[in-house]
Amino acid sequence: MRIGIGYDSHRLVEERKLIIGGVHIPFEKGLLGHSDGDVLCHAIIDSIIGALGLGDIGKHFPDTDQRWKDASSIELLKHIVELTRAYGYEVSWIDSVIVAEKPKLSGYIEHMKDSISKSGIPYGSVNIKAKTNEGMGLTGHGEGIVAYAVCLLRRFESQD
Ligand code: MG
Repeated sequence: MRIGIGYDSHRLVEERKLIIGGVHIPFEKGLLGHSDGDVLCHAIIDSIIGALGLGDIGKHFPDTDQRWKDASSIELLKHIVELTRAYGYEVSWIDSVIVAEKPKLSGYIEHMKDSISKSGIPYGSVNIKAKTNEGMGLTGHGEGIVAYAVCLLRRFESQD
């Protein structure tokens, strides 16, 4: 088995859609980024890349590459799940935390898990927690949104 940790943060700005966990959440601001700025998917991607020992998200999806401009991060995650299989591993479990003062995210968690399952990570293998930062710091002041993830990869059972 392998474990990995992922972290990401994105700035909240006007005139961007807010996409978290592949779900569009109605809000006055959205996350700035080369792709859709999906902070949760990026933290999950980095946790998996970490467990595989393959560097970080910037190495796999450089922001200088026009292919990933405004890309759906669910598609990036799908790419990494396929890479995981190619290395002989499967995603056994993901746990994650989103830190956002606003908007309230608890009502979107199940939708996020459903959306993430489209990448090939089963609905029942992901846990997502949403927290505020009690008004403190960059998340508490509404400057941005942060996400953390850990993952456990399991080696495929030999079919022989
Ligand atoms: Mg990111």
